[in-house]
Amino acid sequence: MQYLITGGAGFVGSHLAEALLARGDEVQVLDDLSTGSISNIDPLKANPRFHYVVGSVFDERELAELVDRADVVFHLAAAVGVRLIIERPVHTIETNISGTERVLRSASKKKRKVVLASTSEVYGKGSRVPFREDDDMVLGPTSRSRWSYAASKAVDEFLALAYWQEQKLPTVIVRLFNTVGARQTGAYGMVLPRFVEQALRGGPISVYGDGKQSRCFAYVTDVVDGILRLTAEPRAVGQVFNIGNDEEISIEDLARKVRDRVSPSLAIEYVPYEQAYAEGFEDLRRRVPDLTKIRELVGYRPTLGVDAIVDRVVEHMSRKR
Ligand code: UDP
Repeated sequence: MQYLITGGAGFVGSHLAEALLARGDEVQVLDDLSTGSISNIDPLKANPRFHYVVGSVFDERELAELVDRADVVFHLAAAVGVRLIIERPVHTIETNISGTERVLRSASKKKRKVVLASTSEVYGKGSRVPFREDDDMVLGPTSRSRWSYAASKAVDEFLALAYWQEQKLPTVIVRLFNTVGARQTGAYGMVLPRFVEQALRGGPISVYGDGKQSRCFAYVTDVVDGILRLTAEPRAVGQVFNIGNDEEISIEDLARKVRDRVSPSLAIEYVPYEQAYAEGFEDLRRRVPDLTKIRELVGYRPTLGVDAIVDRVVEHMSRKR
């Protein structure tokens, strides 16, 4: 099979490419390297079944040619990371909405299946935990730019579902919860690589707010496994699925785990949100996925828990230094 991955030089995209190549498929990557990086795909370049184009989904001719050659399109190209979203809201909204519009339109002309990467952000600050796919979205006001990310990805989801309903374009939507692993950078705000970087530099580890907010972290290879299972399942078409891990941990406990793993004498500091983020930030207290739907349809179960995840990320980031 031939797969196109938009955003394939990004963190999740490069792991997806690696998994497809490992099972013998052909992979094309389209990435503008805005947050992705060539170093993510360097090890893949020697594989004759791997091809990449440095370019944008906004280049319609390039996109049309790549879509034409593919059997399935994974659309991962998007603005991600809370820090980036708050700092560059215009870029976020335009990339996420217009980029997805173009990919779906192009795929629709050729009737190529599209797997759209969405995000747990679309649940917003809903307080009914765990989050189920058919739960309401609870977003903050438009004056808080964080919510532009959730709103833009929600529009993407509406559009992908509309293409299926109206034009019978097969689409599958995956809502990725906090995903971590080798090659993820802390540059766009993601907490685990930031904690590990800080710890390896000798600390302090900076916990934002009171640290009692919680998340669930899934290792990227588990997430890729979920994406591939759903892609191969015809009954997944026209539906939305959570993918992640449902083991919940507070950010404060995560900081302690990183500290204990790297050096128990490291300091942990608490940084007020007003200092940590530009204006327009609002945090979520808890975010936990309900994984019943994906488990029942394709038997997905994350294999790595938070201790193993912290070990791997520390090991990977130490090796890179
Ligand atoms: N966070 C933190 N220190 C950091 C970066 C993030 O305490 O250096 C917190 C952040 O405020 C949030 C949690 O960690 O409560 C997860 O943040 P991230 O940006 O990784 O993901 P998201 O907020 O999208 O879940």
